[in-house]
Amino acid sequence: MPNQKTKKEKTTDDKPLNERSVLTDKNEAEKPAKRTARRTTAKKTAEPKEKTAENATAEPKKTPAAKRPSRKAAAKKAPAAEPIPVAAEQAPELPQPRRSVAFIGSECYPFVKTGGLGDVMYALPKALSRLNCDVKVILPKYRCIPQQFHEKMVWRGTFRMDLCADGRAFHVGIMEYVWDGVVYDFIENDEFFSTGNPYTNLIDDIPRFCYFSKAALAALNYMNWIPDVIHVHDWQAALVPVYLRTLFADTPVASARTILTIHNLRFQGVYNVPTIQYWTGLPDSVFEMGALKQGDQDANLLKGGIAYADRVTTVSQTYAWEIQDPFYGDGLDAHLRYHSGKLSGIVNGIETTLWDPASDALIPANYSCSNAVAQKRANKRALQEELGLEVNEGKMMIGLISRLTDQKGLDLVNSILPQMLDGNTQFVVLGTGDQRYEDSFRWFENNYRGSVCSNIMYDETRAHRIYAAADALLVPSLFEPCGLTQLIAMRYGTVPVVRETGGLKDTVQPFNTYTGEGNGFTFDRYESGLLLDAINRAKTLFFTERARWDEMVVRDMEKDVSWERSAMLYRSLYLEIKP
Ligand code: ADP
Repeated sequence: MPNQKTKKEKTTDDKPLNERSVLTDKNEAEKPAKRTARRTTAKKTAEPKEKTAENATAEPKKTPAAKRPSRKAAAKKAPAAEPIPVAAEQAPELPQPRRSVAFIGSECYPFVKTGGLGDVMYALPKALSRLNCDVKVILPKYRCIPQQFHEKMVWRGTFRMDLCADGRAFHVGIMEYVWDGVVYDFIENDEFFSTGNPYTNLIDDIPRFCYFSKAALAALNYMNWIPDVIHVHDWQAALVPVYLRTLFADTPVASARTILTIHNLRFQGVYNVPTIQYWTGLPDSVFEMGALKQGDQDANLLKGGIAYADRVTTVSQTYAWEIQDPFYGDGLDAHLRYHSGKLSGIVNGIETTLWDPASDALIPANYSCSNAVAQKRANKRALQEELGLEVNEGKMMIGLISRLTDQKGLDLVNSILPQMLDGNTQFVVLGTGDQRYEDSFRWFENNYRGSVCSNIMYDETRAHRIYAAADALLVPSLFEPCGLTQLIAMRYGTVPVVRETGGLKDTVQPFNTYTGEGNGFTFDRYESGLLLDAINRAKTLFFTERARWDEMVVRDMEKDVSWERSAMLYRSLYLEIKP
């Protein structure tokens, strides 16, 4: 094992990356107008800029340190991410003051998405940009990002960054894409991001996201874009607050405050201390029980992020409470209770322009509240034909769109499926994941042909069609930080049947047969009998009181599931930590 202390001191004293980054692009930062022009003529200008960046990074120490802008000055000088014409036109109505926010996370629709995190990284920045925030989203440049986006990216700069405890350095490229008021900066490094999927296994993922977290901060310094707030997401970016307060403490970006949002506490990025110490080059002081250390031998990246972030949020209020309990806390409940003063929950929304049955190009029959009942039937018939189910609009179609893991309550579904299929009900599942669930759903399809269709795949188009066609959608999760499928379902007039946990509890109000209020059907304990009971209550209303069911369809479509309110809450939080 190398002497960590020596390596650490060397890294800090030399300030190899951070100082360099500030110095090299100083001139660039003072020319925001030129930068805008360069984006539109990317290919023409790429070459000369590359030379500048490389020359500059090759000779970092030639520029006197005294010329470095002070943290405050750098923060003041930091240019806006990008002039946003739409925002400028609406300026008089925008909430004040303007805030700049860097989002750092491992996935973002439409570039790369494996679940809800990708949706949030797409929709929240857009909603914030409408609320007078300059937002820059920083992501890895995975090879699996569709070619059409690679082609649109503009080269922003290149530098080398020391990463490991032994001083091993890596290339960092910044590729930029500006779209709809949001700037996307992709961190490019083929050694780390050339695999097909964003996530492979922890052995590869730990170094990859240690690199990404540090490179994201270094890129902010390099671009001299110093945000008010750095908003990081999940364990893959949880090292950002740790780096910020240690190795980057004397650099311009340290003036930013940090928020860590936990989208799913189950994934924490845990590995043995020597490996993480090596790949991060972080000082010994962060490998203590109050920060990264866990148990005797491990380091936990999410735990470190929770300790170092100025605020920690989860994606629903109920989940923020639940994770302080050992059952939901996944080993971090005590740590979260200790930090409960800075922990809160803000429920997710959905991007209502993307998820809009009135304009959705992926569904056969568009609809709004006024014609939802008839048009949903047309969508149901079309999907029944497409999937080889019995074409009969009188059947109740129950959908399930999910990663197929034990989080999602699939054991409950498997144990009641035969009872659910009463001859008048069809079941359509869309998902990929654990082999045992994929196999069991295939088995059901084979044994209940015409009534069950198992789509073991990831397919956006099919997801849209199921949301539009189904009468009800199951979300019986064991735990659910927020859950987006129930929100999308409501937007499409599909009645959710959910377990009362996390965001499901916060977003689905149970139907009250006496008052006629509510948006869906719910059950509390994690028991298959209770799921079956909730489904049966839904069926009873559907088959015997269709008018009341149809009223609920419209009520669901009218429910506000947009990001607007939640984006306001995030904005308030930003102002709280950076007034
Ligand atoms: P999680 O993040 O735990 O996977 P969420 O409910 O927060 O669950 O988000 C799931 C998102 O992924 C939704 O947008 C849903 O439509 C989408 N999704 C899940 N599985 C599939 C699939 N197989 N094909 C297409 N979209 C899917």
